Amino acid sequence: MESRTEINKLGEFGLIDRIKSGFSNKQPSTILGIDDDAAIIDTGNNYHLLSTDMLLEGVHFDLSYMPLQHLGYKAISVNVSDIAAMNGIPKQVTVCIGLSNRFSVEAVDAIYDGIRKACESFKVDLVGGDTTSSRSGLVLSVSVLGEVTKKEVVKRNTAKVKDIICVTGDLGGAYMGLQVLEREKQEFQENPEMQPQLEAYSTIVGRQLKPVARMDIIYELADLKVIPTSMIDVSDGLASDLMHICSQSEVGAVIYEDKLPIDQMTYQTSVDFKIDPVTCVLNGGEDYELLFTIRQKDFELIKNHPDIHFIGYVQEKNKGINLVTKSENVVAIQAQGWNHFKK
Ligand code: ADP
Ligand code: MG
Repeated sequence: MESRTEINKLGEFGLIDRIKSGFSNKQPSTILGIDDDAAIIDTGNNYHLLSTDMLLEGVHFDLSYMPLQHLGYKAISVNVSDIAAMNGIPKQVTVCIGLSNRFSVEAVDAIYDGIRKACESFKVDLVGGDTTSSRSGLVLSVSVLGEVTKKEVVKRNTAKVKDIICVTGDLGGAYMGLQVLEREKQEFQENPEMQPQLEAYSTIVGRQLKPVARMDIIYELADLKVIPTSMIDVSDGLASDLMHICSQSEVGAVIYEDKLPIDQMTYQTSVDFKIDPVTCVLNGGEDYELLFTIRQKDFELIKNHPDIHFIGYVQEKNKGINLVTKSENVVAIQAQGWNHFKK
């Protein structure tokens, strides 16, 4: 009898590992393949960076609260974020769109208005794509090509013991924004007369609907002449993404609860929803902030940056990946993150 393994037994990362194990790179220009935020390709003077990300209706977005312009913007932004995570500059994108007959030409215009806005703000050109019909709702898949000099490329697997762990912006907002949107949707379904009360939550709702890739940080780090020793964008949640850096770099880490950046609105909303704010910061996904490590000697150069937070340091692998709580307990960090195949 043929055996059958459920995908959720492997999980998303297990499945990717399984796919990866069946392939080996043959091209000398393939410097880095599957494993990082983007692949690294040697083009002579510089490296090219290539990454792709897909957004599916019903999995990644719900059109009952996601405006089409925002969706277009987000599809580009999350791809640009992967180039930022390699310390690169995005240059070109291609967009594949799957549409069912629910969508009008005006709806497509709205999606592309958002795509245009993102292309303008990140200075990338839309250079191609593919258009197809879809039987299961809207599909948006974007690929992005970026560039970086060979000495400035930053990978996930190069963090060193004693490096300082940094994160930009604040965390957990996109997750709490999603909770607010889901609650409003449910209340609207129960009572369609009700108007959604979203203004009070505009910051976190915006974090969910229209995340902005932190290219600003990449330009500022370049101006300050700081090259991180490792970097990843926070798409699955701080815990999961820190674990990626640690496992690939073969190091451990300590982060401090009192140093974790959380916005006042995220904090208050998580308390109102009876969700532990720390859980929200550690495991809420889709913030698209940058998590990176720097050498101690570079601390002086960025210590006054208003939007970079120093949350801990890298330690030997055998010491584990730990959180020091406000009451000074040391707890091992576990990643919940986003697992699309979780039951
Ligand atoms: P990110 O969250 O930064 O977009 P992912 O966790 O989606 O990264 O992917 C991790 C790595 O696995 C990346 O290098 C990505 O290109 C690769 N990858 C993901 N899915 C597949 C797949 N189906 N086939 C080949 N490589 C994949
Ligand atoms: Mg990424």
